[in-house]
Amino acid sequence: MTSVVPDGISPVAVDKAIEKLTAELGAESVVTAREDLLEFRDPYAYRESDEFDASAMVLPTTTEQVQAITRIAGEYGVPLWTFSQGRNNTYGGPAPRLRGSVLVNLRKMNRILEIDTDLAYAVVEPGVRWFDLHEALEREGGELWASIPDLGWGSVIGNSLEYGIGYTPYGDHARNICGLEVVLPDGSLLRTGMGAMDGNPARHTYPHSYGPSVAGLFQQSNLGIVTSTGWWLMRRPETYLAGWARFHGYEALGAVVDGLRGLLLDRTIENHPMFTRGYEVDENGVGHLNPDGDGWVVRFALYGRQPVVDAQYRTIEATLGRLPGVELAKRVFSGTDLTGPANHDERVQRGIPDMDLLDPQMLPYGADTGHLDFSPVGPATGDAVVRTEQLVRSIYARQGRAYVNGIFLTPRSALHISTTFFDPRDEQETEAVYANYSELVHELAKTGYAPYRTNLAHMDLVADQFGFGDHAQLRFAEKLKDALDPRGILAPGKSGIWPATLRPGRDRDSEQ
Ligand SMILES: Cc1cc2nc3c(=O)[nH]c(=O)nc-3n(C[C@H](O)[C@H](O)[C@H](O)COP(=O)(O)OP(=O)(O)OC[C@H]3O[C@@H](n4cnc5c(N)ncnc54)[C@H](O)[C@@H]3O)c2cc1C
Repeated sequence: MTSVVPDGISPVAVDKAIEKLTAELGAESVVTAREDLLEFRDPYAYRESDEFDASAMVLPTTTEQVQAITRIAGEYGVPLWTFSQGRNNTYGGPAPRLRGSVLVNLRKMNRILEIDTDLAYAVVEPGVRWFDLHEALEREGGELWASIPDLGWGSVIGNSLEYGIGYTPYGDHARNICGLEVVLPDGSLLRTGMGAMDGNPARHTYPHSYGPSVAGLFQQSNLGIVTSTGWWLMRRPETYLAGWARFHGYEALGAVVDGLRGLLLDRTIENHPMFTRGYEVDENGVGHLNPDGDGWVVRFALYGRQPVVDAQYRTIEATLGRLPGVELAKRVFSGTDLTGPANHDERVQRGIPDMDLLDPQMLPYGADTGHLDFSPVGPATGDAVVRTEQLVRSIYARQGRAYVNGIFLTPRSALHISTTFFDPRDEQETEAVYANYSELVHELAKTGYAPYRTNLAHMDLVADQFGFGDHAQLRFAEKLKDALDPRGILAPGKSGIWPATLRPGRDRDSEQ
């Protein structure tokens, strides 16, 4: 009998559901042993905490099995929590928001169903990692590149559903999704966009629907389990240029942000520049943390035909290069050169996945280092970016915590990603870091900012910040939740969206 049960669900119901799931999937695809499930805790929560423990885990291999799982869960009212690779570290890892949920681990659904070189897309299942996609694209001749995040072990689908970010011109990963296949809470199957029509050849090439587009309802949501998607890729360019600008101080930061925004808006630069502070790469390409350092570096990249890239770089020199205290550097590669891009910055903007960034992040406490990322989003003006950086820095200073900093720049917005490090074996320190995060949320909310993505413990708090119209957006999501998933079986609490039975009291006079 399972000892971890969700609130309000009887242990007998959970056991019966597990029995039925075992009959459906086979014993080898159902995990109930406590010691095996511990591996699927959030690695950055307090190590001994059982607050986000799962009751069991299932590993389906087909869409039909995912449908059967949701039907069985619905029958017994047992909540599920889905992950694709479950590497969502710093935002909860593989762990469920609601203790006692059954994990739906999609790592075994890892087929690349199609690569279309002419139309530059792939169709992937949820278990496909960045490493897998890159390898498959290279096997096909390397004519297509995938935008990738900093760590290669995550999944294309899990990352993209979370609005994950990468560093080629296709770096807004949610936008690469085209043609989802989704299992709904009642076990039925839905295909979005042109895929809603049998045999439609534009299923993975045209992103909108006839009528309202529903694909977005499955991102950062708990309305379905995505079993495949089309995902857009970029064509290999003739030339790839990895560039950097280095500078010190807030005045230069503001000027570089404004300069880069202009270059992004006029499409001289088409990828997503990433600023870092507190993390330095030495002459051997090895990264080191230096939270006290006041040096900034921003990486960016150019892609295209050689004369065009040359002209674009001259424009960058004439814009950023003339700013006082800004030093520019570049390395240029042929598009077919796989081994030339040697350091992480060069590889990640070229779509070659690695795990290099994890090592320096493990320095403070060794393999047990925990980190918590705070990622509010604001507009991409120099003034706004500098004000936000100063505010965040002053809060961390008051809390007495060191952190490293990243700013992901798009033509109109800036994601401010600050990472603080702690020892998750230390209960008090972990609690203090999580309390500090709440303070950051409250303080930034006073300036109108909120995180674009958050960890399990802060999902409700972040949802609370979106209060316009008496939380009209959240109430809309809740209405959909009640209609599509009346028993509340899919990921209760994800993004602060709870089923009616578990909904926290909120002052909603106008609720009807
Ligand atoms: C050092 C470091 C660097 C990082 N760099 C980046 C970066 O550059 N860019 C970035 O975006 N992130 C980054 N991250 C955050 C995170 O590690 C990645 O986003 C990672 O890819 C997420 O894990 P995953 O892909 O395995 O997603 P998963 O853990 O599989 O999924 C994430 C969430 O999506 C939902 N979900 C997943 N699959 C499904 C499905 N099939 N159906 C319905 N819902 C689903 C679930 O709610 C799940 O919790 C970084 C983290 C660290 C620690």
